[in-house]
Amino acid sequence: MITFALLCDNQHRFDAWFRSAEAFDEQLARGIVSCPVCASIKVEKALMAPAVARSGSDKVTVSSGHPQQAEIRELLRAMRRKVVSEADYVGDRFAEEARKIHFREADARGIYGEATRDEVAGLIDDGVDFLPLPNLPDEHN
Ligand SMILES: [Zn+2]
Repeated sequence: MITFALLCDNQHRFDAWFRSAEAFDEQLARGIVSCPVCASIKVEKALMAPAVARSGSDKVTVSSGHPQQAEIRELLRAMRRKVVSEADYVGDRFAEEARKIHFREADARGIYGEATRDEVAGLIDDGVDFLPLPNLPDEHN
């Protein structure tokens, strides 16, 4: 599996997983790589700022083979769709906004966006309640 940082024509950044670089090119050509925020299929690889670039040896926790895997995946997709459709997208300002809401400096509301590992660690330290939003690999079998 390979993760690409992608950018749609509405400037939404998101990560997506692919079997290989070739699989990404092929899925992009077929128009099935879409932005999770606006569903645009005009997507390209984002240039990662050096400060946020993840090293190739960074590890993610993954699982496979659970008898209910398909069901769990669908629940996670449904969760993601629900959050994305009902919450405000705040992009890179996620940590800042989540903290403001936590300390009642901003209206309580659902938000989602991106945070760096350091920002996530800071939110945990501050006791801010949040949830990882899964980026699931594209359907394939
Ligand atoms: Zn978009």
